[in-house]
Amino acid sequence: MRSIAEALASMLPAFSPLGEEEVRLTESSGRYLSRDVVARSDAPPFHNSAMDGYAVRAADVAAAVQSAPVRLPVSGEARAGGPLPAPLEQGTACRIFTGAPMPAGADAVVIQEDTDRDGDEVEIREASPAGKHVRAQGSDVRFGAPLLRAGDRLWPGEIGLLASQNIDRVHVFRRPKVALLSTGDELRQLGDDLEPGTIINSNIYVLTEMLHAVGAIPVALPAARDTLPEIEAALREALEADVVITTGGVSVGAYDFVQEAFKNVGIEPSFWKVRIKPGKPVVFAQHENKPVIGVPGNPISVMIAFEVLVGPCLRKMLGDPQPHPQPIVARLREDYHRRPGRVEIARAVATREGDDIIVTLHRLQGSGSLPSFVGVNALVILPADKADFAAGEQVETMLWGPGLTGKRSCFDDLS
Ligand code: AMP
Ligand code: MG
Repeated sequence: MRSIAEALASMLPAFSPLGEEEVRLTESSGRYLSRDVVARSDAPPFHNSAMDGYAVRAADVAAAVQSAPVRLPVSGEARAGGPLPAPLEQGTACRIFTGAPMPAGADAVVIQEDTDRDGDEVEIREASPAGKHVRAQGSDVRFGAPLLRAGDRLWPGEIGLLASQNIDRVHVFRRPKVALLSTGDELRQLGDDLEPGTIINSNIYVLTEMLHAVGAIPVALPAARDTLPEIEAALREALEADVVITTGGVSVGAYDFVQEAFKNVGIEPSFWKVRIKPGKPVVFAQHENKPVIGVPGNPISVMIAFEVLVGPCLRKMLGDPQPHPQPIVARLREDYHRRPGRVEIARAVATREGDDIIVTLHRLQGSGSLPSFVGVNALVILPADKADFAAGEQVETMLWGPGLTGKRSCFDDLS
């Protein structure tokens, strides 16, 4: 049986990025760049005013003070999006508003609050050194300079930056198509009548959501019944995708045919079990280098195996250079005792209490209990070799779902 680290070490090399495609910027949300992007223009693209006031030559107002203001004729006006201002004659000022291009020759802005307008003239009560309140062309980014790197994910800030550079198409890594094959005679679809002994195939809905969240493309196949021929045929179809995930039928019961079906279809396993709880019977296998993962049918095992093993692999395949979740340190609210042997991923509710994050383990920790995930915002990592945990003890914790949220705003106590 492998540790989680050993399992990941076998799996990750099989999940290389799939190559790139070009997409519109408006459809690039959450994607990972496959190429570096350099600036197409200076940013800001032209010298412009950071304030409302008057554009001047700094030398003309160098002597200005409250008690002896400098008086200048106002030669024109510059506003954002307006006509380009004429060059500024020496000894004059130009009315200017935030974002407006600086007139040629002007090198500083005096803010409106330090001036008094008097007809065609303005009194400047404060000196303004060269560059003051001016956003200089290229001061953020120079034409041709690196803007973003391959592997960067496109969040709103990155998309805004690219948009500001008039870059309307980007090269990103392809999103893997992930075939979802559930197995089990008992499985029915949402909306079906449930005869006695049948259950809804909830796993397919959970996995579809988890794949969307990671950024992969789910391909939900019809559930296969527990027969060898049906599972084999479904696997052959599933192998048209980039990655295959099967659920159920993976352990040693008389109706667990997944292992045998893998063999018959030429899917080579590298391991069958991982020291993780829940989710021990996880299979990782490959068909001509295409990754195939078999997870048990229990819904919680599916979610935990995805979060711990599959998610990092898929993020790597999507082009993420940092695909691993980074836990935070939290403290247990209550004692916890259990049988050691496997790393346990326990569902919990995390709350911020002063400087600490406190985690309360859910009273339901069974691998089939879907209500045990409701309201959960943290997965606590309990090391394999430890049986007893004391209240207040520090534990590594992965935030999950909504993360840390609260009724009160953290700004309530700030002025
Ligand atoms: P198995 O791994 O096939 O032995 O299934 C373990 C448990 O998970 C059984 O109680 C199954 O009924 C249940 N199960 C299997 N597949 C699914 C599924 N797709 N959705 C919900 N529960 C399932
Ligand atoms: Mg089954």
